Amino acid sequence: MSITDNLQNIKSSIPKHVTLVAVSKTKPVSDIMEAYNTGHKIFGENKIQDMVEKYEVMPKDIEWHMIGHVQRNKVKYMASFVSLIHGVDNFKLLQEINKQALKHDRIINCLLQIKIASEDSKFGMRPNEASEIIQSEKFSELKNIRVVGLMGMATFTQDKEQVVKEFNLLKSTFDSFKKLEIFNFKPKTISMGMSGDYKLAIACGSTMIRVGSSIFGVRNYN
Ligand SMILES: *Cc1c(COP(=O)(O)O)cnc(C)c1O
Repeated sequence: MSITDNLQNIKSSIPKHVTLVAVSKTKPVSDIMEAYNTGHKIFGENKIQDMVEKYEVMPKDIEWHMIGHVQRNKVKYMASFVSLIHGVDNFKLLQEINKQALKHDRIINCLLQIKIASEDSKFGMRPNEASEIIQSEKFSELKNIRVVGLMGMATFTQDKEQVVKEFNLLKSTFDSFKKLEIFNFKPKTISMGMSGDYKLAIACGSTMIRVGSSIFGVRNYN
């Protein structure tokens, strides 16, 4: 099936309140243009350099999401245009995003990445670390960022019960934060679910799914 067919099938199968981020990492501009030409405008990349290169040559009404692990010294390259940074997992990174956003006179939306998987390879903070950051004095000084929710990645496993347990952890963490009233913390997004598990994620309360291979086909990393 074509990219267009895949995209339309997924879009027609998910509820309206769920946002689809089409994960275009490793894929050429021509593939992304095919998706764009169906009317889709939200794309996710996991390497800042690749995202910048694509941003430069592609239509400017695309919303670019950074879904990968972010190195602090590279934030400056995307600060002028990135629309949501999913993988924020420490306070120093928030400070750097704030500093770069200020330079561009913008407010950059971020998600805090929570470690929900049992695998050591996955990044993220513990729920209590995130809670401490959000409620700290120094967080309230960051006027050029807005934390709009949480992101998580489940363990890569066929064990659905395990995955549901992890998604439920992200949802309950989100719910426990919802009552906090802080000007730069406005939680509305739960980013969870990929090609293999987005249906489960939606059933567990996801409001934003990040789907790559089910749209663009398998990735070739060579
Ligand atoms: C690659 C990636 C995805 C998409 O993965 P698929 O299995 O191809 O849908 C989603 N989220 C993150 C953080 C990724 O790195």
